Amino acid sequence: MDVFNTFVRDLKKLPAEERDKIIEEKKTKCICPTCPSYNKCAIVEREKLFCMIGQSFLCISFEEGCKCEDCPIAKEYGLEYKYFCTRGDEKGQRYLNSVWGSTLE
Ligand code: SF4
Ligand code: SF4
Repeated sequence: MDVFNTFVRDLKKLPAEERDKIIEEKKTKCICPTCPSYNKCAIVEREKLFCMIGQSFLCISFEEGCKCEDCPIAKEYGLEYKYFCTRGDEKGQRYLNSVWGSTLE
């Protein structure tokens, strides 16, 4: 099993409080705020870590570049996708690709 799958599986087994703590810690490494797609709304709502939490709920609708490939989290967990803020988290994109095949670059 790859690093990302193992991480998600282990995370699910943890109590909610511990899970939240890990997510908050991972958010500190997220470089989304340096990305051109990241906007004022996302700053105010403290939206981050879309690769694990899921796409932007309130703020980001337009893709104007993505920095995920340079992110330490992407490297640490071997993420295969990007534009998580608009296209959904790594888990969802992997699933969609396995079912439909990806038409997105
Ligand atoms: S891979 Fe992208 S969404 Fe995930 S933490 Fe890094 S910059 Fe944020
Ligand atoms: S997920 Fe990618 S496109 Fe979206 S804000 Fe983060 S770095 Fe930018």
